[in-house]
Amino acid sequence: MSTIDTSTSTSTRTGSATTPDAPVIPHWIDGAAFAPENGRTAPVFNPATGEVTARVALADEAEIDAAIASAHAGFETWSRFSIAKRQTVLFAFRELLNARRDELAQIISREHGKVVSDAMGEILRGQEVVELATGFPHLIKGAFSENASTGIDVYSLKQPLGVAGIISPFNFPAMVPMWFFPVAIAAGNAVVVKPSEKDPSASIWLAELWAEAGLPRGVFTVLQGDKLAVDGLLTDERVQSISFVGSTPIAKYIYETASKHGKRVQALGGAKNHMLVLPDADLDLVADQAVNAGYGAAGERCMAISVVLAVEPVADELVAKIRERIAGLRVGNGGGGPEGEPDLGPLITAQHREKVSGYVDIAEADGATVVVDGRTLTVEGHENGFFFGPTLLDHVPTTSRSYQEEIFGPVLQVVRVQTFDEGVELINSGQFGNGTAIFTNDGGAARRFQNEIQVGMIGINVPIPVPVAYHSFGGWKQSLFGDAKAYGVHGFDFFTREKAVTSRWLDPAKRSAEHGGGINL
Ligand code: NAD
Repeated sequence: MSTIDTSTSTSTRTGSATTPDAPVIPHWIDGAAFAPENGRTAPVFNPATGEVTARVALADEAEIDAAIASAHAGFETWSRFSIAKRQTVLFAFRELLNARRDELAQIISREHGKVVSDAMGEILRGQEVVELATGFPHLIKGAFSENASTGIDVYSLKQPLGVAGIISPFNFPAMVPMWFFPVAIAAGNAVVVKPSEKDPSASIWLAELWAEAGLPRGVFTVLQGDKLAVDGLLTDERVQSISFVGSTPIAKYIYETASKHGKRVQALGGAKNHMLVLPDADLDLVADQAVNAGYGAAGERCMAISVVLAVEPVADELVAKIRERIAGLRVGNGGGGPEGEPDLGPLITAQHREKVSGYVDIAEADGATVVVDGRTLTVEGHENGFFFGPTLLDHVPTTSRSYQEEIFGPVLQVVRVQTFDEGVELINSGQFGNGTAIFTNDGGAARRFQNEIQVGMIGINVPIPVPVAYHSFGGWKQSLFGDAKAYGVHGFDFFTREKAVTSRWLDPAKRSAEHGGGINL
């Protein structure tokens, strides 16, 4: 484990990986593990050691077809299950998840690198959606208007779509699929999950749990793979909808391609979340929250705070407080060690670490001050791990590419502004609109902020405002393509198609003789 050197210097490291006889992580098709047959695989690393621990199957056309065909058949069965029977399976899944989630947290930490308690955090946020979904009858029951016109009733039915494709990113291998599949399955759909090839095991564990809970085969399918598998889902006519989470360029591609193929699409993209700090804020609270939200999960969160917008005159004091706290952070193996659990683990790959490091180089070259430099960090005993230390950059020019683009690492950038309005304008001028936060004790300023800001999720003295399961998750602008957010009421609307029925039944007493006459009531 390593603590952070808050002096500055520059150097970079490269990761290395050994390749032992790695097991192959399979697909899950037709209710069972499906060993790949085509020989295409990709390495899966333990980011803390840099070693290849497994190889993941990369689907070819035949496997893509088998997965979708099985899901299609699963839908035919599942969509005919009564509401009560579907609810029984969902409750069983929820109970199993609750009892065995420690196993899942270990799997996530091993392949992703995040600390185990943080892996548990993502499971709990996913479990919230499972719990929401157990109450699904209330959310799909439609509406009824009696006597809309004389003798005419109008009502709506909410029916499942069919096969739903879910394509997820590496940073939340359990939570992001759980934003979608509990809702999709509860509503009567079958899902095909295409996990990130960087941490594919969590989805297989979840598939086994569904089988144990009694879900019929074909309703939950895992298709491991790369662009080929994704394109298969985007273009196959048996797939009715696509739910995607990942980087903005891919989200845009997914939205355009799947829409062109007639599918319903929600594609959530990248982020650059700002925290606006007004001079009346409690700076100790702000520093604590900025450190948690900036460096937790090594900054690999779509709702991480990556920019602190300090309204002067507080910037010097705030930067000093953040720097002080960074000195106490411990970086190490997310799975823990003799000294217990660290505060943050490694980045996902050596390549990603080089990218994050490159952004710090750009910021420095553009004139930012490197207050704490994570580029030099090594972790004793884990020299080949993909570690990057918490980094603090001050006086970051807003013209720098490092400010305008998503870094997705443990790098906090401080930008100094003179007024509230200048801060709001800066946030609104960015390409992303995922999350943002304001720290202040002025309720009027917070209220203006929530009204004027062009961002989908807002925190008021809350740094990571991920909505609870009965609200919905989603950003604006380049952070969400499509108009349906994840989970909550939006989720149930997305995974159902509505029919409106207008019906007239003649009063039996008034039926004419020609039509069989009336009956005596
Ligand atoms: P990514 O876009 O590289 O990959 C996401 C998924 O798309 C993976 O399953 C991957 O296999 C697939 N993919 C990658 N390249 C593809 C291509 N050319 N064609 C088709 N499919 C392709 O994202 P990532 O690096 O795994 O995840 C990090 C990104 O996800 C960050 O940008 C982060 O902000 C974003 N994210 C956003 C949210 C949100 O709610 N908005 C949540 C989590 C992560």
